[in-house]
Amino acid sequence: MSALLRFEPMTESKEFPEGLDPLGGEEFTFECHPGVSCFTVCCKNVELDLYPYDIIRLRKRLALDSETFMHTHTELKKGANPYFPTVILKLVANGQKFQCPFLSDQGCTVYEDRPAACRTYPLERAVDRSVERGRPKEFYFLTNHGYCKGHYEPQQNTVKQWIRSQYLEQFNQMNDRWAEVDTLFGSNPWKGEGSGGPKQQLAFMVCYDIDGFREFAAAQHLLDHYRLSREQKKKINEKDVELLKFGFEWLKDILGSRSALIKK
Ligand code: SF4
Ligand code: SF4
Repeated sequence: MSALLRFEPMTESKEFPEGLDPLGGEEFTFECHPGVSCFTVCCKNVELDLYPYDIIRLRKRLALDSETFMHTHTELKKGANPYFPTVILKLVANGQKFQCPFLSDQGCTVYEDRPAACRTYPLERAVDRSVERGRPKEFYFLTNHGYCKGHYEPQQNTVKQWIRSQYLEQFNQMNDRWAEVDTLFGSNPWKGEGSGGPKQQLAFMVCYDIDGFREFAAAQHLLDHYRLSREQKKKINEKDVELLKFGFEWLKDILGSRSALIKK
């Protein structure tokens, strides 16, 4: 499952990946509930990308520090971005199969904090950030896996209803910020340091080790380098999500991209 499709900026002719047509306001049929014969099938043998906001939600839910969460529940793989690793969920063995570690016989044990990909399904989301178009535009596509019987349930949904019912707004907002930063990483901004160099390690810490970044920011007095109100500093100091937003902007700044932060 992947909640964020990556493809080149689209042109006026809207060239979508072959076989995919975006949904507009029309309805699609789908419902997932414990009564479907395929219940939890999709949580097994799955490759699930985890984005930075997924990590801070899950680690809080599990009351783990971010380093322990990463060590226990994630793996790195080479994904679409050749200059930055992709983080995926580490599955656990259950008989012949591998499954999500948060799956129980009753279903998802982290449901309220499940990752974006899980809550977006059966939709996939793509964002067109081409400059000519002005504001980024989002598109949703309906996926249909043969094993998923939810498509035969009678419930009618529109994309808008699905976004609301799955509480996707906050995930989408944070994933759009993350996609911007990931795109920057994709331009190889490490300036000859190569993979695993100091800047890339800093970037990885900001994105995936929020506790480590909190300590680093405090030790380096990072917030004091920028024009931030007392209220903004308080929020950044108290909330992971605000610290992550600050971190994304800080990375843009130190990697030479346009940042919302203003230096003092
Ligand atoms: S987080 Fe929940 S919904 Fe997502 S794969 Fe794991 S058990 Fe399934
Ligand atoms: S209906 Fe689809 S999403 Fe729900 S459990 Fe079955 S396979 Fe997974």
